[in-house]
Amino acid sequence: MKKKVILIVLGAVVVLLTSLWVANRHFGFVGQMQKVDVGRGVFPWKDVEECIDERAVELPSRCIWCGRHKKEIHFRSPSYTWENLCGVASDLTICEHCRWQYDSEMTSRN
Ligand SMILES: [Zn+2]
Repeated sequence: MKKKVILIVLGAVVVLLTSLWVANRHFGFVGQMQKVDVGRGVFPWKDVEECIDERAVELPSRCIWCGRHKKEIHFRSPSYTWENLCGVASDLTICEHCRWQYDSEMTSRN
C-alpha cells in the first residue's frame, strides 16, 4: 500500500517537472530578463536605458507590439567601450515599453 502511494507521488513529481521543463522551453519564463536584455536588438537594454533622456523624440509611428509611439534616442555605448576602441553612437528607434529596438543608424564609432 505504502509503495503504491510512493510510486504515485514520484510519478506526479516526474510529470510536474517534465511539464515545467517543456513549458520553460516553450515560453522561456526562466531567464526571461536576460532574453529581454540581450535577445532583442543590437544593444544591451541597460545601455540603451541610460541614453533615454530629454532629447528623446516621440515618433508618429507606433510600436507593432503595443501600439504606443516609438521613440528616437541618441544611443551612445558606455565609456569603457570607447576606451577599448569599440564605442558606438547611433540614432536608435525604440519602444520603451516593450524594450524593443527597431532601427539604428550609426552616427559614429571608434
Ligand atoms: Zn511597444
